[in-house]
Amino acid sequence: MPSNDGVLAAARAFRVLIIGGSYGGLAAALTLVDLSRGRVPRFSSNPDAKPPPYRVPIQITVADERDGYYHLIGSPKALACEKFASESWTRFRDIPALKSPDITFIQGSVSGVDCAAKVARILETETQNTRTEPYDYLVVASGLRRVFPAVPQSLRRAEFLEEAKLHANDVRNARGGVVIIGGGAVGVEMAAELKILVPQQQVTLIHSRKRLLSSEPLPDDFAERVDTILREVGVEVILEQRVVDTTEVDVDGERRAWLLTLSDGQRLTTGRVLSAISRPIPTSMYLSPDALTNDGYVKVHSSLQFSGDVSNPEHHFAVGDLAAWNGIKRCGSAMHMGHYAGNNIYQHILAERGAGKPNFMTLNPFPNVIGLALGHKAVSWTPDQGTRHGEDLLTSLFGEDMGNTSMSTLQKVGT
Ligand SMILES: Cc1cc2nc3c(=O)[nH]c(=O)nc-3n(C[C@H](O)[C@H](O)[C@H](O)COP(=O)(O)OP(=O)(O)OC[C@H]3O[C@@H](n4cnc5c(N)ncnc54)[C@H](O)[C@@H]3O)c2cc1C
Repeated sequence: MPSNDGVLAAARAFRVLIIGGSYGGLAAALTLVDLSRGRVPRFSSNPDAKPPPYRVPIQITVADERDGYYHLIGSPKALACEKFASESWTRFRDIPALKSPDITFIQGSVSGVDCAAKVARILETETQNTRTEPYDYLVVASGLRRVFPAVPQSLRRAEFLEEAKLHANDVRNARGGVVIIGGGAVGVEMAAELKILVPQQQVTLIHSRKRLLSSEPLPDDFAERVDTILREVGVEVILEQRVVDTTEVDVDGERRAWLLTLSDGQRLTTGRVLSAISRPIPTSMYLSPDALTNDGYVKVHSSLQFSGDVSNPEHHFAVGDLAAWNGIKRCGSAMHMGHYAGNNIYQHILAERGAGKPNFMTLNPFPNVIGLALGHKAVSWTPDQGTRHGEDLLTSLFGEDMGNTSMSTLQKVGT
């Protein structure tokens, strides 16, 4: 029950388990840390927001396969530039905001969740033992599974730095150029970053459709602008061609080369082929199919509580890429959802303890919005402003470091 000193009395701390310590998961964790200490959440954009009425004992556990927070949106640059790679991955234990007795980390992969018993099974990376983790509230924020080279496959910072170094050397030294297959968002960013970072390297982007970004719900003038900028920086763009055959050919024993055959019979030789065509897959296999859409996304209400046919749906939340919500998947949306889920868990706790009705934050549909970093320029599209591009836009959208600094809300210690 609430007490007069602003503390919600409870026999023990409320246990919140968060699966995935990235944009969505960490935003939920830090919102809960702030609210539980009686502070306005650091993610709040409301200048008139009042501190919450009660401090609440909360114990947060974040389970992640990685040993740290990886700035995923900087991946195309991190995998081509060692210095940037080092800044892209911060071990959880080194993030100031997360150094708190209220937060613990488990490095491991969640393999099962029992919503009725409110227990998760986690395969710990270090010991390879499976532990069971009971919780009162669950936030699933484990995003989508993506393959290399869209994202690194290392799970520890030290291994990631090696992976990034090897990859950067590979593309730098590839004899006969680098070919990227797939002109979606990842492919175009990768092509531009490579060409800017290794200008002497020939970079070719091959896409099967008539226009780049063909599967994104965006107008042609956006795709055309991206195409123009890529050609300006020196990327060769080949459209309407599929790679129908890739054969490895030995050049000088050590360095290999690849012979690619395109659908029109054209052939080209290259020193490195990077695939940017695989479709990302939701990481939701640890949940019952009843919680999921047919393609594996978690069904949610606008409060981000599960809306599928599972036990205790009001104690289960999904945020970020994994949530079945409209709009292009973006890290800003993931953080926004994390903020809302953290707030709604706090509200639910208060309501269950008799401290008033829950004042849930509910999500509106997201408009399709996109911002792409293409070397020294960015291109963006919003329903209000249409297509914009330029060097200033790169700075305003991504800063000097692909948005890593602007994500510093995740790093900040609450005041
Ligand atoms: C190359 C690339 C460039 C991008 N560029 C942009 C951009 O410029 N702007 C933008 O807004 N968005 C961009 N995006 C999209 C953006 O990165 C995602 O929308 C965002 O990362 C989603 O955040 P999330 O927290 O939902 O999930 P993620 O960031 O994917 O994090 C999921 C976390 O869960 C962990 N995990 C997964 N499975 C398990 C499991 N079973 N058990 C435990 N942990 C698990 C992972 O290790 C990871 O840390 C880009 C994406 C890519 C791939």
